[in-house]
Amino acid sequence: MTAAFSTIQNPANGDFEAVEGELGHEMLTRRLKRRRQVLVLAAASHLINIALLVTFAAAGTVSPAMVAAFTLAATAFIGFFLVLSESGVTDRWQDHHFTLPYTVTSAGLLLAFICLAPGVGIVFLCALFLVANVISLRATPRQGLICWAALTISVAAVYLLADLPMQVPFATPAERLATLLTFSLTIARSMFIGIFANILREVLHRRRIELEIAYKRIEELAELDELTGSFNRRCIMRMLDDEILRTHRGKTECTVALIDLDWFKRINDNFGHPTGDEVLRTFAITMFANIRSIDKFGRYGGEEFMLVLPDTPHDMAVQMLDRLRLIIAALDWSAFSDGLSVTISAGVATLVSDETAEMFLARADSALYAAKHGGRNRIASA
Ligand code: GH3
Ligand code: MG
Ligand code: MG
Repeated sequence: MTAAFSTIQNPANGDFEAVEGELGHEMLTRRLKRRRQVLVLAAASHLINIALLVTFAAAGTVSPAMVAAFTLAATAFIGFFLVLSESGVTDRWQDHHFTLPYTVTSAGLLLAFICLAPGVGIVFLCALFLVANVISLRATPRQGLICWAALTISVAAVYLLADLPMQVPFATPAERLATLLTFSLTIARSMFIGIFANILREVLHRRRIELEIAYKRIEELAELDELTGSFNRRCIMRMLDDEILRTHRGKTECTVALIDLDWFKRINDNFGHPTGDEVLRTFAITMFANIRSIDKFGRYGGEEFMLVLPDTPHDMAVQMLDRLRLIIAALDWSAFSDGLSVTISAGVATLVSDETAEMFLARADSALYAAKHGGRNRIASA
């Protein structure tokens, strides 16, 4: 089977990375959706600009032809970036949101209209302020400073060098109303951008928490046996290795027990596999309830389990195992199924100097074998 790859640039290091099949496709779709959202918001903002210009045109401040010219220019501008976004070419760019070309051309468009229609320059100046707001959402402090300087120089060039009759329209009540609307809607849009950024931040924060929980769960699943909730074989073997190293270093005593359920095949045959599973689960829960917090209990395979007992002398371990054996045998197993009873056998070994995990476990296994041959439902010492 061949996997489909999409090449996407990692914004963190600028490297192109191949993202496999479904995952890559999902990521590209999500990016496209986000770009569409931003462009829809930009289009909505230009609609507000057009509405403001219509209000000024009604007040006689600007000609309807100029409003039509701006409408055409803004539509062409948004249309161009929409086509660019939909084509997907920017997915290969470091910033797939094309922030720099978008904001530079956007500022250029607004500055051009300040020159073309200085009487309503306030509308375009306010829109320029919003462009700066949008830049600040994505820019680093250095980029922000450069954008601020570029905008200031461009506006200064238009205001100081050009001999344009710029003013805040205030002559008639209709003009005052249009000016008031311009300020009010600029403040509203500016606040919307801030709130939008806040919502995004909150979503990101929630995602991070969800990811942390999922990661923890994966870690747990990688360590635990699904059926019994005890450590799985890989994990308990690693714990045994760690314990052996610690014991060799610290001159303490480490004891291990291999525990096997007696006649388990018969339990499965007589009472069914689901009852067998239930027996394994109940056995594990009972073990957890009766061992110390320092002890490590894991499934070694099938109906065989390993109990690692750190800092435990041999005699004490044998006593502990015998107590566990009695507890298991005394459980009311007939509650699961009439006539069911469960016993365990175990082989106990205490680490001797320079012994490896294999040698250590082989001795515990021989002891278990002896316990089985001795009649089961018993503990044998290596
Ligand atoms: P002994 O006393 O000598 O240990 O006899 P036994 O029947 O317990 O040992 P044997 O090795 O013959 O059989 C072990 C059985 O455990 C066989 C296998 O089907 C069953 N078993 C292993 N894993 C599971 C499990 O996850 N669920 C269930 N229900 N049975 C399991
Ligand atoms: Mg068995
Ligand atoms: Mg067995």
